[in-house]
Amino acid sequence: MNVHMFHARSDGEEGDKHGNGGKTDMYPFIGAFSMTGGDGENSYASNSILQRKVIEKARPVRVKSTKEMLIGLDFPPCVKVADLGCSSGQNTFLVMSEIVNTINALCQERGRDPPEVDCCLNDLPDNDFNTTFKFAHFFCKTGKGLCFVSGVPGSFYSRLFPSKSLHFVNSSYSLHWLSEVPRGLKGNKGSVFMTGSSPRTVYEAYLNQFRKDFSLFLRSRSEEMICDGRMVLTLIGRNARDPLYRDCCHFWTLLSKSLLDLVHGGIVREEEVDSFNVPFYDPDEGEVTEIIRNEGSFKIGELETHEFDLGQSRDEGDYMLGRDKSGEREANCIRAVSEPMLVAHFGQDIIDTLFTKYAHHVSQHSDCLRKSTVTLVLSLIRK
Ligand code: SAH
Repeated sequence: MNVHMFHARSDGEEGDKHGNGGKTDMYPFIGAFSMTGGDGENSYASNSILQRKVIEKARPVRVKSTKEMLIGLDFPPCVKVADLGCSSGQNTFLVMSEIVNTINALCQERGRDPPEVDCCLNDLPDNDFNTTFKFAHFFCKTGKGLCFVSGVPGSFYSRLFPSKSLHFVNSSYSLHWLSEVPRGLKGNKGSVFMTGSSPRTVYEAYLNQFRKDFSLFLRSRSEEMICDGRMVLTLIGRNARDPLYRDCCHFWTLLSKSLLDLVHGGIVREEEVDSFNVPFYDPDEGEVTEIIRNEGSFKIGELETHEFDLGQSRDEGDYMLGRDKSGEREANCIRAVSEPMLVAHFGQDIIDTLFTKYAHHVSQHSDCLRKSTVTLVLSLIRK
């Protein structure tokens, strides 16, 4: 088993990692858009239990898709797999081990030699790949066939791999992150994302940005994947009829509330909250399928909707510790994915207080049942 570090793209295209033409002056925090690195208390690696559970839930779709890919392509001698938005920590290796184990088991069942597997881990260049690569060693030890691991820094809203080179692509919990904050959100006051009280133009601005980004994602992958290659995508979505509706315990709603607490406390200015919006979008099934059909390169295999529960970011033991502790867990989970953005806009000093407020708001909502947020799991086939 070999571990290659970074094979960065070398086409001379300077990595504008968010595909926003370098307009970081308007949205200064966008350059800081990455999960918290390292393996400390507030890191992504230590606060991604929810994402791990999501990876487990999408397993049946991924296993089925992996098998279909192998059979459809008549057991190629080398299989190139990419995980897009791998982040820092070990989650990406859960996906990769599962894919490699599925391949090996099927080969054994059919009396075939296992292929060499080329595992390419992609994320934005600011991602803490070093923390991820520390787990490569354990991953490599478990497999039977030969596996190769490499890191591919760059935005998945652009080309990352040579033409017709990929057999299988996975992306878990990454595609709800947009390439940039959409233009036209000026009317979105007092909230970091859309809410029931946002103007409809805010929804349109977000949807247009998602349409543009997701189409570009599909177009880039369609060039990189071989015919009959497979792709499994997991992302945050929504199931409410009204496109502006988000339930009262939506994580961005709670973050907005916590920021407004700081405004009332005189720690943050109101205008600072008004001018902060997250580069995030949670499409519904209809929006996703329409974009896939319009782009035209992929057939939809499976499309599942799973329950989303940020409460799953808790460890089993937390239930024994009461509401406050579980509020803290959820706060840490959101902190790990948003701290760099928040720090770039509001500064470091407010962060601890902000997430203490956040944990309190979570504990006020632990009994809410009607949720508008879901997880979408999709399997696609390159035509
Ligand atoms: N797949 C991992 C990580 C999910 S967190 C897991 O399931 O645990 C989302 C990741 O997507 C972050 O690491 C973030 O840096 C990455 N990401 C967001 N936008 C991206 C882009 N345009 N290109 C590549 N990675 C991106």
